[in-house]
Amino acid sequence: MKAVIVGAGIGGIATSIRLAKKGYEVDVFEQNSYPGGKLSVFEQDGFRFDAGPSLFTLPELVDDLVALQNKDHKIDFPYKKLDESCRYFWEDGKRLTAYTDPKKFGAEVEEVLDIPAKVIIDYLKNAEFKYEKSAKLFLEKSLHKSSTFLSKEVLPALLGIYKFGLFESMNQVNESKLKHPKLVQLFNRFATYNGSDPYQAPGILTSIANLELNRGTFYPEDGMYQITDTLCKVAESLGVNFHFNAGVEKIMIEGNDAKGVKVNGDFIYSDLVVSNMDIYPTYKKLLSDQKQPENILNQERSSSALIFYWGIDREFSELGLHNIFFSDDYHQEFHHIFKTKTIAPDPTIYVNITSKHTPSDAPEGMENWFVMVNVPSNSGQDWDHLIPEIKGSVLEKLQRILGVDIAQHIKTESILEPRTIESKTSSYQGALYGSSSNNRYSAFLRHPNFHQKIKGLYFSGGSVHPGGGIPLCLLSAKIIDDLSPAS
Ligand code: FAD
Repeated sequence: MKAVIVGAGIGGIATSIRLAKKGYEVDVFEQNSYPGGKLSVFEQDGFRFDAGPSLFTLPELVDDLVALQNKDHKIDFPYKKLDESCRYFWEDGKRLTAYTDPKKFGAEVEEVLDIPAKVIIDYLKNAEFKYEKSAKLFLEKSLHKSSTFLSKEVLPALLGIYKFGLFESMNQVNESKLKHPKLVQLFNRFATYNGSDPYQAPGILTSIANLELNRGTFYPEDGMYQITDTLCKVAESLGVNFHFNAGVEKIMIEGNDAKGVKVNGDFIYSDLVVSNMDIYPTYKKLLSDQKQPENILNQERSSSALIFYWGIDREFSELGLHNIFFSDDYHQEFHHIFKTKTIAPDPTIYVNITSKHTPSDAPEGMENWFVMVNVPSNSGQDWDHLIPEIKGSVLEKLQRILGVDIAQHIKTESILEPRTIESKTSSYQGALYGSSSNNRYSAFLRHPNFHQKIKGLYFSGGSVHPGGGIPLCLLSAKIIDDLSPAS
């Protein structure tokens, strides 16, 4: 049987591997000249930059796919576990390192913030409990099949659901469990991992900390793009055909069956179609003559991002791979992003420097900075005016905290912002993670991984169930594998 996949984002590539392994003849059509979508790479003036994701958790989901490679190949995916997940900086001079060993992190918190280590250890145990109990229900299976709710793995999750903090916000859970405003701020940050607002998102999202701080933070030997590169090689080893510069114009439906796609005016027949394109444009452009699930499509989008890629002509020993420079008024920051849809005047800044791990990512004595602030999704804001303004406040804040005028050290610059995220990946409004998780029912409101009426039509990637971020996109491919017919 034949399968066609629209888009070579990480969810599309993972789906291609699973379907090819199942015996399908798979063609992937990608509108760009390169694979990976948000998980791509570029080089500029001797600096290498991972364009999108920088934080890598649950590497076993990539290992699972690598293990499916054709036996005649030897495709490796080397990565290492990091000892520290992130270095945190505040304006009052406090600095704290989050280690991936809960005891070590607890000891650091005790020393820097004078809060007993046990507070962290207990918090992370609770995060682990919530994650391990809820993942089977919310992440690893379709929420749109009655069989999911009857399976024996899911029953314990349903029975324990009242313990998950669904009826409090993340911030409320964090305020009640952590004893220091800086710790609340630090753990509220995990809402940004799916582009949500910790003051609205349900408390169950406090379980996200389990991934980074209990299970660990990882780094592929050659940087994040190695995930895309490796998975493309695995797909090719199984016979998947990638077609680049090949934007799909329409998904062909006959009666209640998906029949293929239209690309560059040509009709490509298939038994199965998987759209890895964001669900909003999938309906509006590729399925425009089908009934539109407006309630799903019109949900609030997750946050987007403004990224400055800077080649910096010196090194900073106080910085690690991941660094956060916190905003003084975190609550206001999210209010600006989600309620007023503008950029907070004093945003939190995330600086990722892969040359700390892979020195060849920057010329000798220099560093490659990926400098990101969370911003609202694009609803027509005056970005041309906002971007230079925000760059000014980012530079001022870095100067206040690091005592260095970074502007003097920028040798090269590139910028990614909500409009270009949308034009490069078709992600509606440039949202990083599809719809936001601000609503306590959002897990149930995402589009299923299959079409309820059209046979042979499936959906993978960050805008559908189970949600955005690399691990969840990979899980969407696994769910499609479970739901699709044998070839
Ligand atoms: P996408 O990456 O959205 O790609 C979709 C692909 O489909 C694109 O290549 C697009 O060109 C193609 N396409 C669309 N329409 C068509 C069409 N009609 N025809 C053909 N092709 C089409 N996640 C993490 O886990 N950790 C992080 O640290 C992290 N940080 C991030 C930072 C940034 C700046 C960004 C942008 C994202 C970040 N994410 C992070 C999120 C993560 O990158 C995404 O959730 C994930 O990569 C999305 O994958 P996807 O499968 O949904 O496809």
